[in-house]
Amino acid sequence: MLVVMEHGATDAQIARVAEVIREMGYQARPMPGAQRTTVGLVGNDGRVDGSQLEALDGVAEVIHVSKPYKQVSREWKPDDTLVTIAPGVTFGGPTIPIIAGPCSVESEEQIVLAARQVRDAGGAALRGGAFKPRSSPYSFQGLGREGLALLALARRETGLPIVTEALDEDGAHRVAEVADCIQIGARNMQNYSLLRTIGRLGKPVLLKRGMAATTTDLLMSAEYLLAEGNTQVILCERGIRSFDPATRNLFDLTAIPLVQKLSHLPMVADPSHGTGLRDKVIPMGRAAIAAGADGLLVEMHPNPEKAMSDGGQSLFPDQFARLVRETRAIAEAIGRSLAAPPGTAPSARG
Ligand code: PEP
Ligand code: MN
Repeated sequence: MLVVMEHGATDAQIARVAEVIREMGYQARPMPGAQRTTVGLVGNDGRVDGSQLEALDGVAEVIHVSKPYKQVSREWKPDDTLVTIAPGVTFGGPTIPIIAGPCSVESEEQIVLAARQVRDAGGAALRGGAFKPRSSPYSFQGLGREGLALLALARRETGLPIVTEALDEDGAHRVAEVADCIQIGARNMQNYSLLRTIGRLGKPVLLKRGMAATTTDLLMSAEYLLAEGNTQVILCERGIRSFDPATRNLFDLTAIPLVQKLSHLPMVADPSHGTGLRDKVIPMGRAAIAAGADGLLVEMHPNPEKAMSDGGQSLFPDQFARLVRETRAIAEAIGRSLAAPPGTAPSARG
């Protein structure tokens, strides 16, 4: 439920509304707006009688949020949420950041070279997994803590912010020490205790859609993060299981405008896992930007043939540079632009 205050409501009136909400046994979330303040009521499981709140001084109206995901919905917050992971790298606004890098961090040489290639081509953030969720327990599981240290080194070398996955609750704290944005992978989208832990870490989060999750499931999972007080959440379409083995996943482009209509959170797209096929990544990356995606997450490796994971869907560096050039033209055609790598003038972009 949302309590909308009158234009010009006093601080004391807003504080009284929050106090009554707490007396009713719920939590109050005051949200100052450009025109007027709203006070969200959270912690309820079902409809709450708002008559007591409606009668308070300074209250304009009480709105019942009809969606099961409350704080994530546009009913709760009509205007787009901006998520900034580093100065100049903001998701959800007019500029579109592209996050790129290898599936896994493999060595100092590999990740620093990849970071330079990403930055030089015009990517705004570096991705790379230190803790990897692999289908087989015998596959490469990532370099762990050493991988995190190498990501921090790559950031020092290039200035690119780091997006990297946390696999479990222990690792989440370690990942938070290094990451500018914590990735929650498709397999963990419904790991509710991990969502709660990460929601409390106070870092931007990139939440990937589960491979068998509906868009409503994705929004419900995001609600766990917001319920812990973290509004810095980026959603990510990464393809869902389908009956057609021709691609690794079915890249659900419609999910982009669909989720953006239902939620104020930014929605990015991962055409690498979405297709699983290198030669499909550029066309579907272009399509995602045309569909209105607020960013891309792309796998690029200095030498994909030697990659320790997901080499077959990783772009070669020159292909990544082409993807950036082509998506920039598409972004500009729809009134947006690509975010420049931090520390570079827009005119010096690759
Ligand atoms: C990844 O980004 O490398 C990854 C494991 O993605 P997903 O969780 O979408 O499979
Ligand atoms: Mn991968």
